[in-house]
Amino acid sequence: MRAIVIAVGSEMLELGRVDTNSVYITQKLMEKGIIVDMRILVGDDMENLSWVIKNAYKRTQLVVITGGLGPTEDDITREATANALKRELEFRQELVEQLQTRFRMRGMQMPEINARQAFIIQGSEVIPNPLGTAPGLYIDDEQSRILLMPGPPQEMIPMFDKILQERIAPLCNFHIYKRSFKFGGVTESGLDSQIAELYVKYKNPRTTILASPGMIEVHLIGRSRKTIEEAQQLTDELAEKIKERMKDALITEEDISFPQYIVNELRHRKLTLSVAESCTGGGLGHTITSISGSSEIFLGGVIAYSNQLKMNLLGVDQYTLTKHGAVSRETAKEMAVGIRQLTDSHIGIGITGLAGPGGESSNKPIGLVFIHLSTPTYEMAVHHVLPGSREMIRARTVNNSLNLIRQYLNSLPPMME
Ligand code: ATP
Repeated sequence: MRAIVIAVGSEMLELGRVDTNSVYITQKLMEKGIIVDMRILVGDDMENLSWVIKNAYKRTQLVVITGGLGPTEDDITREATANALKRELEFRQELVEQLQTRFRMRGMQMPEINARQAFIIQGSEVIPNPLGTAPGLYIDDEQSRILLMPGPPQEMIPMFDKILQERIAPLCNFHIYKRSFKFGGVTESGLDSQIAELYVKYKNPRTTILASPGMIEVHLIGRSRKTIEEAQQLTDELAEKIKERMKDALITEEDISFPQYIVNELRHRKLTLSVAESCTGGGLGHTITSISGSSEIFLGGVIAYSNQLKMNLLGVDQYTLTKHGAVSRETAKEMAVGIRQLTDSHIGIGITGLAGPGGESSNKPIGLVFIHLSTPTYEMAVHHVLPGSREMIRARTVNNSLNLIRQYLNSLPPMME
C-alpha cells in the first residue's frame, strides 16, 4: 500500500514550527510496510487544500490528514475534504450532545462555534477523540482511504495508533521485519557512498537513512506476503552486508541514543569516566549526565578554559602550552591524563579546540579540535577540522568524543556474560 500524508495549518508554515505529526505518521506507516510517497504541508486555504486532497486521493491508496478540525473559521479540513471528494457535510445531533456533555463535565457551556465539529463528511466513520473536542473521520472507499485527525499531537497520536492497528494494518497483508543500525564517526554522505551500491539493489527491504546529531541511523524494512521468515531472510541478507561493510562505525542495533549506549557500555564494564573540556565548555559532561544512571560511571569534569586552570587544576605543563599551544595534541593529552589522575577514573578525556569564529591562525584553522582518551595502560588520540558554526563545532566535538570512547571500548576484549 502507498500513502500520502498531509499536515494542515498556516501556523505550521511559520519559521520555527515543526510538523512533527507527519514525521510520526510516516514512521509508523513505514513500520507497517506502507510506502509514504509524499508529505505535504498546506496552509489554511480552502482552494489549495481541496486541490491537494483531491489529487492525493486520486493518486494513492491512503491519505492521512492532520490539523484543521477545530471549531474556528480557519479550521477548514472537513469542508475542504468534502469539496475534494464531492460529498456533502452532514450534521450529527449526537455529536453536539457529546460535545455539550464534555463541556458540562468541565463546568462550562459549549460555545456555539463548537457545533461546527458535529458536521461529518457523508459516508465517513466518526473516530472518537477522548482527549479533545475534534473527532476524527475515516472514509474507506476500498480503492482508497482517507483519515482526518486533529492537529494537537497528544490527540492525534493515540487516535492514529488505534486506527493504524485496527483498520489500516490489516489491509496490508504483509509480514514486516525490521532491522536498524546506528553508526557513529561517519557523515551521512560518507555512509551513503559506502552502502548505496548495496541497498540500491534491493527494493525489498526498503532502506531509509536518518541523520541525527552524532549518529546516522539506517532502517531496513522487509516485507513478505507469505511468511515472516521470508521477510526476515530478505532483510537479514542486506543487513548483514551493510553490517560487515560498516563494522568499524557500527554503534549498536539497539533502539537507544549514542550517549545512552556509551553509558550502558561503561556500566556494563564497570569503567568510570572523567572529562577535561576546553572548547566544549562542559558539553560532553552535560551530554553524559543527561542520561539517567550516569552517576555510576561519570565521576566529574573540569572546564579548563584558561591556561592557568589547565596548569593549576590539570597539571598541564607550562612548557607544553608555550611550545605547542593550548590547542594541540600535547595539551589535550596532558588534560586527559590530568583529569584521570585527579579523579582516579579509568578513562580521562581531554578536549581542546578552536570553535571560532575568531582565533584562527595560519597553522590552526577554525574547527581544529584535539580529543585525547587516557587510561592507565592505553592512550588514544584524534584530531579533526570540523565544519560549521561555533555551536555546530562544539556539538560535533562532543559527538566525536563519544565516538572515541566507543572506539576504545571496541578495542577491549569482549565481556564474558
Ligand atoms: P484544535 O483547533 O481543536 O486544537 P485542530 O485539528 O484544528 O484542533 P490545529 O488547530 O490545526 O488543530 O492545531 C492545533 C495545534 O496542534 C497547533 O497549534 C500545533 O501546536 C499543533 N499541531 C498542529 N498540527 C501539527 C503538526 N502537523 N505537527 C505538530 N503539531 C501540530
